[in-house]
Amino acid sequence: MANYREMWENLGMDLAAHDNLCAVLPTAFGDVYLSQKNRPKAMDFWDMVVADIHGIRPAELIEAQKKGQKVFGTFCVYVPDEVVIAANGIVTGLCGGSQFWVPDGEKVLPKSTCPLIKASVGARLGKTCPFFRIADMYVGETTCDGKKKAWEILGKDVPMYVMDIPQMKRAKDVKKWAEEIADFAAVVEKETGNKITPEKLADAIRIINEKRKALARVYEARKSSTIPISGKDALLMMQIAFFDDPVRCAQMVNRLADELEQRVKDGVSVFPAGTKRILLSGTPMAIPNWKMHHIIETSGAAVVCEEACTGTRYFEKLVDESATTLEGQYAALADRYMGINCACFTPNTKRIDDIIRLAKEYKVDGVIDVNLKFCCLYDTEGYTVENALKEAGIPVLGIETDYTDADAEQLRTRIQAFIEVLG
Ligand code: SF4
Ligand code: SF4
Repeated sequence: MANYREMWENLGMDLAAHDNLCAVLPTAFGDVYLSQKNRPKAMDFWDMVVADIHGIRPAELIEAQKKGQKVFGTFCVYVPDEVVIAANGIVTGLCGGSQFWVPDGEKVLPKSTCPLIKASVGARLGKTCPFFRIADMYVGETTCDGKKKAWEILGKDVPMYVMDIPQMKRAKDVKKWAEEIADFAAVVEKETGNKITPEKLADAIRIINEKRKALARVYEARKSSTIPISGKDALLMMQIAFFDDPVRCAQMVNRLADELEQRVKDGVSVFPAGTKRILLSGTPMAIPNWKMHHIIETSGAAVVCEEACTGTRYFEKLVDESATTLEGQYAALADRYMGINCACFTPNTKRIDDIIRLAKEYKVDGVIDVNLKFCCLYDTEGYTVENALKEAGIPVLGIETDYTDADAEQLRTRIQAFIEVLG
């Protein structure tokens, strides 16, 4: 990592603790990523970003703040980036994906909280992540109980706005979400000092739709029997998409997609012919949570798709660009975002349909349903997911895990046995 100590110091970070994180990340990245063979050349961009993950983008955000822009930190794919961008704000994802942050989270949260929440709270309170220091405002949502209570704790330390997400998807719920988006827009206008106009929102909708289209191209290439990119690399691209400038993100992802499409034409695969194809479904895999992809792809199979918020839920479905009034645009945003199928909704049968559809589209040999420990929503829904897949004749393995490596060998044994059965 380049030397950003002064910047981190100015952000009020705990430099000694942060040094410990900086000491392990490059090795972890080297072991998991740089050890792969025949990676797409375009992955150079993401390797560079990760090499300075607490430097390059944070420095950009601070520069933007000096010019008057505001940074909004978000934790969920239901929060519409478009609204922030329309007010000349910047969005950065804040979900924590490392065990490093969990102990600081456990100082204020029950141990029986999902690791993603513990890591997110720990990253802020432990002062060991620059993104959590830079954000001017956090935007939470009422998706799961753990998050709702965590926002109350974080809200004592940082300005926090919480969007109230419906629990069902009836017409009146979609309307309510449109109203929530309009309320959020008013908060964003106040924070940024900029008015959101239909023209600005239309531009923002187009920018984020372009990003979604680029991500979809990469996933489209992954459907090929020639597997042009590892699941690990696709996951990294997706994880960084939550942090990066959306226009640059679309450019870089399109560049990668060009290369992958050429690889498919040329028959260049990163896995030997006949490698078993796996769809991962379940809870999000926030950076640097590469655990399941690494275990699967070093056990003889390939991850070809993720039904997750760090996967298809992030980019599928575009926002309708035809509305010309703010009211119409908020309704279009609500329609698109309420089309995401998260386990926090009931009923959530469309998620089951999604998983079966994706299993077919990506021609997978099996599904691994991976849920974070103590995520009551996804763990409970796992029962329905597994039954539906079995009924559809698609092999499935259900896994519950956390961010530690304590269960890695046990998981490897189970996954290898699952892959053998597929063979
Ligand atoms: S899993 Fe649900 S709560 Fe978590 S980021 Fe995705 S949509 Fe939001
Ligand atoms: S993984 Fe589950 S418990 Fe954790 S934040 Fe997401 S929905 Fe909440």
